[in-house]
Amino acid sequence: MTQPQDNLTPFQSVTWCFDRAADQLKLSNDLRELMRRPWRELRVEVPVRLDNGTLKVFTGYRIQHNGARGPYKGGIRFDPSADEDEVRALASLMTWKTALADIPYGGAKGGVQCDPTQLSEGEMNRLTRRYTQNIAHLLGPQRDIPAPDLGTNQREMAWMMDAYGQMYGHTPSIVTGKPIELGGSYGREAAPGHGAVMVMKTWAALNRYALPGKSVVVQGFGQVGSRIARLMAEEGCIVVAVSDVRGGVYNPKGLDMADLLRHNATAGTVRGFRGADAVTNAEILTLPCDILAPAAVGEVLNSSNADRVKAALILEGANHPTTPGADAVFNQRGATVLPDILVNAGGVVVSYFEWAQNIQQFRWSEDRVNQELRVVMERATQEVVRRAQAAQVTLREAAFQIGVERVGRAIELRGFV
Ligand code: NAD
Repeated sequence: MTQPQDNLTPFQSVTWCFDRAADQLKLSNDLRELMRRPWRELRVEVPVRLDNGTLKVFTGYRIQHNGARGPYKGGIRFDPSADEDEVRALASLMTWKTALADIPYGGAKGGVQCDPTQLSEGEMNRLTRRYTQNIAHLLGPQRDIPAPDLGTNQREMAWMMDAYGQMYGHTPSIVTGKPIELGGSYGREAAPGHGAVMVMKTWAALNRYALPGKSVVVQGFGQVGSRIARLMAEEGCIVVAVSDVRGGVYNPKGLDMADLLRHNATAGTVRGFRGADAVTNAEILTLPCDILAPAAVGEVLNSSNADRVKAALILEGANHPTTPGADAVFNQRGATVLPDILVNAGGVVVSYFEWAQNIQQFRWSEDRVNQELRVVMERATQEVVRRAQAAQVTLREAAFQIGVERVGRAIELRGFV
């Protein structure tokens, strides 16, 4: 196996992790061929009439990486970085993530290269609808089920469901992460952050690691990051810094979570929070702390900053926040990296519960959702920790091994090879 390089694209980086797991598992060449590349890729041009009357054409994608274990599943990202390669990388991560969580889905991802902060609500609505219409022929409750990701939330999911329903009839199970009033699940919005903290607690219990008093830094204060910050504070951790796209705030004595959430709700940003110093998104990653939770965009931990990262534990809330080069640096210095496909799987797990509820036309209580989520997250974490110990590999390698093994088995059982 060659040493990890940092001149890889996001998809090449994830494929590097896949190849490593495939080598460790001594996977046959036939299986590798069937698992390495996306099974289907669609690129669409999405014309949107802007509020000022001009027409702007955005480029969007829906990439279905692997459908061996069930319908394709994965979020929709609205972000300037969402190009073909990034969406492909995220689609492949979904394949290994759904398999690791052992839920009956394949992996997919969608994206539109746009900057949601520059679009009005009306423009976002038109963009979401046109994108949905353009990819609708690939979707279906038994074919491919989108969900929210960076830059999208309940609002966009409601619009997607509506646009799909105009073409094919009312179909709540076509997307997950919907508002409760439209068939969403209790606990879905909180799920990725909630699941991340369940993973953290399970790992801590297995390793006799006391969470109270540990200092935590969180990059990204959206659906995932804000929940991780809040729940880690509830576990007795001291959240010393958080950031969003506009910058971060730092107080080594700790940030008051209730005040910070109030400030963020009114100001629309964590910036300007009183009683804390301003920090940049680059600085926040190298602040002194015990636990660093990147929960925004990808590849923020890379060869240019890995040796300056001080945290002994990295909780990957975001997808693919660590490049293979940075991963190698962390492993060499004995830092623990709890990997994305395990840590943020809570989102897709509760998406699965939402889909199941929609199909049954029966709503679960929030307690039931969280209880079932806990069972899945604890089991997956225990499996990863056990595999890492048994195979003498890192937690990321263990997580990939389990995911790749399960997808390979499904392919064999279906008789493809
Ligand atoms: P979000 O849009 O709700 O929040 C993103 C946060 O990151 C915001 O605070 C935003 O200001 C900040 N941000 C955006 N660009 C940034 C940049 N360049 N530098 C620093 N901060 C930046 O998105 P989210 O749903 O919380 O997703 C965050 C991450 O978690 C993504 O990597 C996503 O793929 C992953 N994830 C999300 C879900 C989900 O269900 N929402 C599930 C699993 C994984």
